[in-house]
Amino acid sequence: MKIHEYQAKKLFKDYGINVPKSVLCTNRAEIENCINVIGVPCVIKAQVHSGARGKSGGVKLAKTFPEALETANRILGMTLVSSQAGEKIVNKILIEQAVNIEKELYLSLVFDRANECISYILSSEGGMEIEEIAKVSPEKIISGKIEFNKEFNPVVGVKKLGLSDEITEKITAIIKKLYKLFVDKDLTLVEINPLVVTKEGEVVALDGKINVDDNALFRQSEISEMRDKTEENPLEVKAQEFNLNYIKLDGTIACMVNGAGLAMATMDIIKQAGKSAANFLDVGGGAGSEKIAKAFEILLSDKDVKAVFINIFGGILRCDFLAEGIEQALKQNKVDIPVIVRLEGTNKELGAEILNRSGLKFKVVNGLSEAIEELKGL
Ligand code: ADP
Ligand code: MG
Repeated sequence: MKIHEYQAKKLFKDYGINVPKSVLCTNRAEIENCINVIGVPCVIKAQVHSGARGKSGGVKLAKTFPEALETANRILGMTLVSSQAGEKIVNKILIEQAVNIEKELYLSLVFDRANECISYILSSEGGMEIEEIAKVSPEKIISGKIEFNKEFNPVVGVKKLGLSDEITEKITAIIKKLYKLFVDKDLTLVEINPLVVTKEGEVVALDGKINVDDNALFRQSEISEMRDKTEENPLEVKAQEFNLNYIKLDGTIACMVNGAGLAMATMDIIKQAGKSAANFLDVGGGAGSEKIAKAFEILLSDKDVKAVFINIFGGILRCDFLAEGIEQALKQNKVDIPVIVRLEGTNKELGAEILNRSGLKFKVVNGLSEAIEELKGL
């Protein structure tokens, strides 16, 4: 789960990391008041789950009160188009004190699977996307492993930035605080880009991005309450309500599969046929017909979907249950796109019979090779 910048900054503050003074504003009527609280110069920042807001006009410095008023009114309610997250409507803005920037740095802590630990990444090139820095000047990336439950001191890494002892010490302390936050809150990523050194010699987090491990949300009530469903894909939110493992993708072939491994293999098959998947969907082993019906409905309500590929291995989920679920979903939804079905395993014949009597033009295929041929022909 992702949270907003203003929420990340609240956590930073709780852990003793400097952030500029700011207020959140969700309503035009409050804008004037909020600017008065912060004063000018201030920075108006769109609160959407996306990076690179600055490049898309979602972060603006305002030097005077009228400028701040005009900018805040423009950003609140605007549709932000960013390379990272597509179109997002801005429902909240952060009005923040402008900081006198001396230097912009990059700092993040990531869940480092390859090294089985949390690692920090630091760079003197703040403000830029880290992927870009890695490409154009990889020598400017400093990283270090933090071994779980062991004393650690990232000062050796921080020194490589070549800053004064005082600033080096402050950054080192921030990394230690971030590590505590990371572990306490079950994060998978915390990124401060930029972490700035101010003209006054302070080190301040100007941006904040936090991803939390979804599987830990049950024990993270404070973070769970920060969830903003309006920022999430509506089909994914709906799928979660029915306990379906669904992720929207940008292709056109919807797939309905049981088991995560088979779901991934199915996406490979779709690619092999020269097409791309519109989603990942694992309906799970024990899905009943009602759950299948919901899953099918979700697939069909995605306007990008041009065909459906159902690939089921009937083990715990019997093929006839699956077919009944689809039949149920078809009672409420008109389907006029091709549906390819591959059923294997328990009650496969019965499943095929139910599908055939539904009156719809299913293409029931025999095996995966035949499925590929059908997909190619779409
Ligand atoms: P994003 O990464 O989404 O573009 P940031 O919060 O990093 O948004 O802001 C973009 C840039 O705007 C920063 O790199 C920094 O130069 C400037 N900026 C952001 N907040 C402030 C602030 N409070 N004071 C001064 N400059 C700021
Ligand atoms: Mg940023």
